[in-house]
Amino acid sequence: MLNIAIDGHVGSGKSTLAFELAKRLNLKVLDTGAIYRSIACEYKKKFGSNVCQNNLKELINDIKIEIKFIDNQQHVFINNNDYFQYLRTEEISLLSSQISPYVYVRKKLLALQRNFAKSYDCVMEGRDIGTVVLPSAQYKFFITASEQERAKRRYEQLKIMNISYEKVLEDLRVRDYNDEHREVAPLKPAKDAIILDTTNLTLDQTVQKCIDIIKKD
Ligand code: C5P
Repeated sequence: MLNIAIDGHVGSGKSTLAFELAKRLNLKVLDTGAIYRSIACEYKKKFGSNVCQNNLKELINDIKIEIKFIDNQQHVFINNNDYFQYLRTEEISLLSSQISPYVYVRKKLLALQRNFAKSYDCVMEGRDIGTVVLPSAQYKFFITASEQERAKRRYEQLKIMNISYEKVLEDLRVRDYNDEHREVAPLKPAKDAIILDTTNLTLDQTVQKCIDIIKKD
């Protein structure tokens, strides 16, 4: 199987890059952040927005997670609930980054992600794909950009939700800090990852750089 791992900071353009690469190379994409986000939605529905370990463990112990592709879009069903349209709010962004550090949460997702990579030629994107989930992926990209540029990009996506640029920047810093400083599977480039700073690159230029690297082999 061809497996491409993409990791990187919040708002670095991982999802868009993964989607475009998959389209051009005819691969499936797994957006692993959407799984953490979907779990966060289920947690919020059952227990509210404060993370309590006992509640989270209870949820994870009995959880049923299914990935389905509907009209070419990834839908994550948690205990038969599809939260597709609620995944991208700032509240769920923060909640997902609060539940993702726990080892029992990450363990639950590991087999599911690895099975996906065994079943399909794919691009998988997240935070620990090159380091933990698919350490033997043939290609590993670590995507980043300046904080200001990433906050600007997210603000453009979220401004219809009436949120300020300053709040977007603050949330992005909190989430990056959580991801980089957790004990289990922290966000960092794999030793053999190719690091791409997209601050001054368009999406097309970033995609082309990755394609050139892949085609070179
Ligand atoms: O990528 P996205 O922003 O959708 O991810 C939501 C959250 O899920 C991240 O802030 C991160 O804490 C967590 N995550 C993770 N490991 C992954 C993917 C996402 O910890 N592989």
